[in-house]
Amino acid sequence: MTAAPPTGAPAAVALPTPAEAKENLRRILARGSVNLGAASGVERLLLMVTRSCQLRCGYCFVDKSESGPSMPLPIARRAVDLLMGSERPSLEIQLFGGEPTSRWDVVTGVMDYASGHPARAGRALHFVLTTNGVALDAERVAWLADRPVTVLFSLDGDQPAHRRYRPVHRGPDTAWGEDDDATWVRIDRTVDLLNAHPVRWFANVVLPPAAADEVEARYAWARARGVPALQLNYAVGMLWDAATTRTFLTGLAAVLLHDHRHPGGPRLFNWASDCEPVMLSDDLIVDVDGTVLHDAAVFLERRFPALRAAYRRGHLDSLEAFDPLRWSLATIFERMVLSAPKGSLERRIILHNAWLGASVDLLIQRLARALGRPLSRGADAGGRELERP
Ligand code: SF4
Repeated sequence: MTAAPPTGAPAAVALPTPAEAKENLRRILARGSVNLGAASGVERLLLMVTRSCQLRCGYCFVDKSESGPSMPLPIARRAVDLLMGSERPSLEIQLFGGEPTSRWDVVTGVMDYASGHPARAGRALHFVLTTNGVALDAERVAWLADRPVTVLFSLDGDQPAHRRYRPVHRGPDTAWGEDDDATWVRIDRTVDLLNAHPVRWFANVVLPPAAADEVEARYAWARARGVPALQLNYAVGMLWDAATTRTFLTGLAAVLLHDHRHPGGPRLFNWASDCEPVMLSDDLIVDVDGTVLHDAAVFLERRFPALRAAYRRGHLDSLEAFDPLRWSLATIFERMVLSAPKGSLERRIILHNAWLGASVDLLIQRLARALGRPLSRGADAGGRELERP
């Protein structure tokens, strides 16, 4: 029988203070990325397959367009060529958007091309498909089940949560003809489809400040719904004040404690905590036109438009080597901060989101220590533990 999660703060650990969060951020920046790059042996590249999407999630800062260009397959192949030039022993490609399954030809074309790439030279190769689940049918899920792919299912919980935070796109340019309820039926059905196939998948839940008190409810839903693995995220690019920060951290601690005491629920990727602060991702992304950037320039582009210039690394036409492209977390943080004018709302959000990430990391470390759990740092490709929203 499924145990119901408790409510309220666990007494196991104290929540990090702002001063402790800042000190932990300093430690993270000095340490650098633990889940990618030379230390882990993994190299990874995101592909912005399309900017089209059936949904318009309230916390999504990707500049979506129903009429703009998607990534042509020849550009996607050149992106794969660039990654294959890496000397790392393990490679990963994440298909991102927009909703990448709306360009299924590119999704399948990239996986087939990369799998048989001559420069792969027998190295481990894994794919991550980011999706809202709307257009995944039985045929597509069966195709994925035969590939080394993890489905990152952006899924916030029950129907009311989706109606509130993940509504369908209703603009005059949309070709999507179904309303929120009909679309939810598709999304919910995708949970069953994925569970019915041998596909590795997890639910990637995002909570904006307005839903800071819903962490436990989202976890309870995932647990009751048979979700195999779960990542609970705070929304980045939004301002979290002291009250919403405390509420989110308290809820996350309660969920982690419940998970520890009542095994049998979804595998909680939060325990790894190796991508915090999420907004300081050191991943690289190839945009639809072949421009290569650090990926926050895309997933936060409507919130921080100046990041596009600050994070641009070149174009597929001129870049020759992949490995030297990755910046340190300290450089990424410095460039992000400097891209926002002093005293601006953008600068405040950047600093607060970075501190929130450092708080989450510290809280998880404390809980793990108090409970005698090892932290599964540095998960490898094919088992990569954390993905951003
Ligand atoms: S978060 Fe994903 S599903 Fe939601 S609007 Fe953005 S691209 Fe679409």
